[in-house]
Amino acid sequence: MLKQQSIELSEVVSQISKLKAKIKTWKFQNKIIGLVPTMGALHEGHESLIKKAKESCDIVIVSIFVNPIQFSPNEDLDKYPKQLLEDRRICSKYLVDTIFAPTPGEMYPEGDDLTKICPPDYLKNKLCGKTRLRHFDGVATIVLKLFNIVQPDKAFFGQKDAQQLIIVNKMCKDLNIDTEIISCPIIREDNGLALSSRNSYLSSTDKEKALILSETLKKMVELYSSGISSKKEVVSIVMQDINPDIKLEYLDVYNMDTLEPAETIISNSLVAIAAYVGGVRLIDNIII
Ligand code: AMP
Repeated sequence: MLKQQSIELSEVVSQISKLKAKIKTWKFQNKIIGLVPTMGALHEGHESLIKKAKESCDIVIVSIFVNPIQFSPNEDLDKYPKQLLEDRRICSKYLVDTIFAPTPGEMYPEGDDLTKICPPDYLKNKLCGKTRLRHFDGVATIVLKLFNIVQPDKAFFGQKDAQQLIIVNKMCKDLNIDTEIISCPIIREDNGLALSSRNSYLSSTDKEKALILSETLKKMVELYSSGISSKKEVVSIVMQDINPDIKLEYLDVYNMDTLEPAETIISNSLVAIAAYVGGVRLIDNIII
């Protein structure tokens, strides 16, 4: 008879006080603590962050929290995919030490009566922030709360959310946060589609249609490599391939540090796209 190998599941902690007590012990033992903040429904993109954290940290904590204050009322907060048991199995594969999965009540016991972190307008009010009003106040606030609870030496974020990464780096600089922010590359399916928890909302036809995001970015890089550096020209060429049933929210080229839109594409420019495919909002980007 085959002997089934059982992996011990990573521990789940939902109380802040319990996690803080564990952190205190690890800090006392001089352990290097790594934090991977997520909203759960883990996929290989998240796994790449966890693997990276395991490489350089003694203790890895994965937070799973669908942060209500970064969602607008018309967004998908209520239907956001939840699969804690499966997430736990994934974390266990990488010997994640603790999953921190608090309830909204644990994180926001006083509800809306809350001190929030406001990133500067020039960073938060463009790209995704143009339509997702106050999204980045919610993101910065939860990241700082997690940092205060976990006191991580390192925190791991995906380049997939490029604007989030820039805002978190700025917050750490401005507020003298010592946590080292590690940026991890975008993990894609073989066909180029960037992995996202929201891909699970897509029908198979829409998944095909969603390839236009990564294909557009790839084509823009190719056009730049072939010698066309005018954004206007490059965008007008790629727009010809974007089907009218894809609702494009933005497609633009930005300065990597200031997120200032750029008229000329240069090396290190950030090219970012957001679009609705079959009613699902998807984002992707590439650094030239
Ligand atoms: P989320 O659960 O969507 O909030 O994502 C948690 C973290 O995983 C963020 O830092 C994301 O940027 C990162 N992430 C999400 N998708 C990917 C991906 N395809 N490749 C790399 N990192 C990702």
